[in-house]
Amino acid sequence: MKYKRILLKLSGEALAGGEGDGICSDVLNQICDEIKNLQLMGVEVAIVIGGGNIHRGVAGATKGMDRTTSDHMGMLATVINSLAIHDCLERKEVDTRVMTAIGMAEIAEPYIRRRAVRHLERKRVVIFAAGTGNPYFTTDTAAALRANEIDAEVIMKATKVDGIYDKDPMVHKDAVKFDQLKYIDVLNKGIKVMDSAAISLCMDNEIEIIVFNMFERGNVQKAVIGEAIGTTVKN
Ligand code: UDP
Repeated sequence: MKYKRILLKLSGEALAGGEGDGICSDVLNQICDEIKNLQLMGVEVAIVIGGGNIHRGVAGATKGMDRTTSDHMGMLATVINSLAIHDCLERKEVDTRVMTAIGMAEIAEPYIRRRAVRHLERKRVVIFAAGTGNPYFTTDTAAALRANEIDAEVIMKATKVDGIYDKDPMVHKDAVKFDQLKYIDVLNKGIKVMDSAAISLCMDNEIEIIVFNMFERGNVQKAVIGEAIGTTVKN
């Protein structure tokens, strides 16, 4: 195996499937099957899930909401998604813990780094919910932060397309896929893969980012054993 400890970043939208919002149970099932396969391979898996299928802070703010309140709602949306994944994984007999960056001890454990690492060492899947716990951030930044804290070797960012392109492949038929990119090029060229705070955090500590299509079965396992899939961002 190329990677022993990974952080899987899922967007909230991914959970919605074709439905645009909410949680699609077929998609949830498929994602959890892939995660279970990773666990069976002996990979230590941490997960950060977004909340865009339920609420995005910016969207509320543009409609006149207080931005911080709207971001709090966004972070709570990530907790809802995390609980859905937790439930689905446990039904598949995958030992899982949800840890939240905002205290809600009746629902999930508080995020404590050492405890998170301990769970991973015991091969429990750990879901980091509620982003960073702070408004004005994204779950991409939360993923980069947690990956650094737990010494993950790679962030696997699941998307609907199979990597990073020079332009939107959904719109432009002649879009060209990159196999590899340097962090600095992603920053300089303003390539929209993760926000710049997340990219910078990964660059400083040389955590690779693999952008790939999670909906092609087996892709994530291929990445873990070192097969080239999607686009890798590194130095
Ligand atoms: N959010 C936040 N702080 C964080 C992470 C997330 O305030 O550290 C809020 C923010 O409002 C964001 C929402 O949670 O819009 C959902 O996260 P994100 O947009 O990253 O989800 P995704 O696009 O991955 O579904």
